[in-house]
Amino acid sequence: MTVPPLSTIGIIGGGQLGRMLAVAAAQLGYQCHIYAPDERSPAADVAQLWTRGDYDDAEAMERFAQSVDILTYEFENIPVEPVAALTAFRRVSPNPEALGIAQDRALEKAFVDKLGARTAPWATVDSLDDLKAAIARVGTPAILKTRRDGYDGKGQARLRSIEDAESAWTAIGERPAILEGFVNFEHEFSIIIARGADGRVVSWDPAENFHVNGILDTSTVPAHPSILAEADEALALAVRIAEALEYIGVLTLEFFAAEGGPVFNEMAPRVHNSGHWTIEGALTSQFENHVRAICGLPLGSTELVAGGAQMRNLIGDQANDWGAILADPRAHLHLYAKRFPRPGRKMGHVTIVG
Ligand code: AMP
Repeated sequence: MTVPPLSTIGIIGGGQLGRMLAVAAAQLGYQCHIYAPDERSPAADVAQLWTRGDYDDAEAMERFAQSVDILTYEFENIPVEPVAALTAFRRVSPNPEALGIAQDRALEKAFVDKLGARTAPWATVDSLDDLKAAIARVGTPAILKTRRDGYDGKGQARLRSIEDAESAWTAIGERPAILEGFVNFEHEFSIIIARGADGRVVSWDPAENFHVNGILDTSTVPAHPSILAEADEALALAVRIAEALEYIGVLTLEFFAAEGGPVFNEMAPRVHNSGHWTIEGALTSQFENHVRAICGLPLGSTELVAGGAQMRNLIGDQANDWGAILADPRAHLHLYAKRFPRPGRKMGHVTIVG
């Protein structure tokens, strides 16, 4: 099952996660072939091969799969069926079942509930009437979230009372959703693990995540003591999820550190923004261990390099400050070479180790 160096890894998705995966793969002697709908993309810029195609173009996807040795994805809002169809030609890691669960908040919550996760009270919502019934069950304050395609706080509306039901339903575009009770938390954190083809699991130190306007701003390691106190329980859940899914690759879980223990928020079947610090801050990065896992190589140590690290995202115009950022000789600057710095767009990040 080993995919040896010199093989070609097919990556579905062309964003910065694919870019950093391709760099890690190149370091281990692999080639990458990117499949993405964009004319050019951060990942295609650094890969040997790329194909421009839509995610639902079955023929183009099949040709792409036939041209590579192993497949992975860096983006979870891709339709599951075309990706699942590719398993007829090549191994897809993580498997498409994980993708299907992670891209639907209701499936995801039901799945982790079965595995004994602590979640906020939640209910599915398909209509305004459903929403009113859900409010009666879940209570307020609460957050209405679209089941699919939400990221960086998009597709969400907060409700203070039942009076907000109509405006919240309109705000999310009247789409299938879940209503989630508001969690009183002090800190947010993520657990990132890598599970190898042999079932061995490694994990990085939990990162304390701070959001601004629904977008990740900083990830810091070591995390606050209240997070460290809950990390073992959160990690145990991550391992149960990975085992239940026969997962291979990097898996990310986001939690709220609440009084009674870690409350599961969501998971991503991929490398994650809150793990970018691992490039310089850990002996092996999340990107390298993802490549190692899917290719059947031994996983690298996740140990901290210098006691800790902090990663800060560069959103929109913040990336224009690269000159000032580099004036700090300790700063590791990563720019994703996106041409258009829209507000809210992740343009790069900077990590300081130690
Ligand atoms: P999400 O897209 O689900 O990660 O939500 C984006 C952000 O909204 C989270 O990082 C939290 O800061 C906040 N949030 C989401 N769900 C809840 C909740 N149930 N209770 C309190 N805050 C939440």
